[in-house]
Amino acid sequence: MKHAKVDFLIVGAGIAGLWLLADLKARGYSVLLCESNAIGSGQTLASQGIIHGGTKYALTGKASKASMTIADMPNRWKQALAGKGRVKLQDVKCLSQHQLLWTSPNIASKVTGFFASKVMKSRMQLVDSKNYPELFQHPDFKGNLYQLDEPVLDIPSLLQSFHRQFSDFIIQSDAANSSLVNIDNNWAFETALQDNASLQIQAQQIILCAGEGNEALSKPLGIKAPTMQRRPLRMLMAKAKHLPMIYAHALGVSDKPKMTITSHKANDRETVWYIGGEPAEKGASKSEEVTIESTKKELQNLLPWIDGSTLQWSSFTINRAEGIQDNGKRPDLPFIQQVDNVSVAWPTKLAFAPMLADEITHHFTKLKPISDPHIPQNLELANIGNAHWSNY
Ligand SMILES: Cc1cc2nc3c(=O)[nH]c(=O)nc-3n(C[C@H](O)[C@H](O)[C@H](O)COP(=O)(O)OP(=O)(O)OC[C@H]3O[C@@H](n4cnc5c(N)ncnc54)[C@H](O)[C@@H]3O)c2cc1C
Repeated sequence: MKHAKVDFLIVGAGIAGLWLLADLKARGYSVLLCESNAIGSGQTLASQGIIHGGTKYALTGKASKASMTIADMPNRWKQALAGKGRVKLQDVKCLSQHQLLWTSPNIASKVTGFFASKVMKSRMQLVDSKNYPELFQHPDFKGNLYQLDEPVLDIPSLLQSFHRQFSDFIIQSDAANSSLVNIDNNWAFETALQDNASLQIQAQQIILCAGEGNEALSKPLGIKAPTMQRRPLRMLMAKAKHLPMIYAHALGVSDKPKMTITSHKANDRETVWYIGGEPAEKGASKSEEVTIESTKKELQNLLPWIDGSTLQWSSFTINRAEGIQDNGKRPDLPFIQQVDNVSVAWPTKLAFAPMLADEITHHFTKLKPISDPHIPQNLELANIGNAHWSNY
């Protein structure tokens, strides 16, 4: 068995683990991150990459706790994208500086309270029709278009940036053959490696950022009540050569977007509209066929001038993994639970990764780096995963 000794071991290389790794390294700690699949291969590469500023959660016109908390996140990310602060992401591609929000004329009148509200005025601007993106320049578009202060990131390039900076510290582990082990009242982590070898990692603190994998990993801690909830989605993809690139929420009469579209390039350079929001929520309990049919109809209602006949459709299901809530709804904040020297963490949103790292590092401000960190040579390093839209 090989042995490693570090200040922090992080398990799971999604956005939560990666942001934390970058932050802790910048603070001078020795850190290892174990990933059992590929970097980003959980929820992170399935996400739409929208750095929410809370508009989505303020669609009632009221500033909910979630919408207030998340309002600072676009600025935190913009700092990192500008190469300022501890986490530096200046080489990450921003797909769009703004997520848009569009209404149809009949809907706008039903949500006047929302448009009149102060909360919304500070967070969105009406787009002048002269500046409409291609999709909305069509004469049949009679609604309003708003610009939200919410950048949309290219997640593969985000992962590449972390990988370029920290690949030596992101090692390949084996989920089926790894677990927390208790050594002299302190938790350590053991994992199988290639070639029948194994690795034991002792760390002052272990942070489980394994998304859905946290549930199994935290079992040995003996936490009585379940701490994780899953909220399933069926995400949709519609692909065609000549689709315009668009990043927009369609606003309906409810407090959730009717549809959220982001656009990505598949490996063959065709455009994929990646669709979340209501169709993905409702589709989670339905078949692919039924969900695709109803989403086609919805898209035709929302954007009747788009020729849907050439679209190639596909979908997949994925669970959002988060800290448990009494009502099963989305938590407002990141969730962290500490047992001995292990913290179990879920960011709740990609956008919240900086806040999760702030909370964790704040908790350990007094932790002094160990004097004798050790990382064995030639450990297998983890690769970056593929986005769902790249290969279909
Ligand atoms: C479809 C979808 C769209 C979304 N869109 C957005 C959005 O636009 N904006 C936003 O802010 N949020 C969005 N979210 C939420 C966001 O993606 C998640 O909150 C965030 O990615 C969670 O990051 P994470 O690092 O906690 O988990 P994950 O990204 O799931 O990463 C966990 C990692 O741990 C690894 N792992 C699991 N078990 C083990 C183990 N035993 N050992 C080692 N490694 C392990 C996994 O392979 C994975 O790489 C979306 C979520 C989904 C599902």
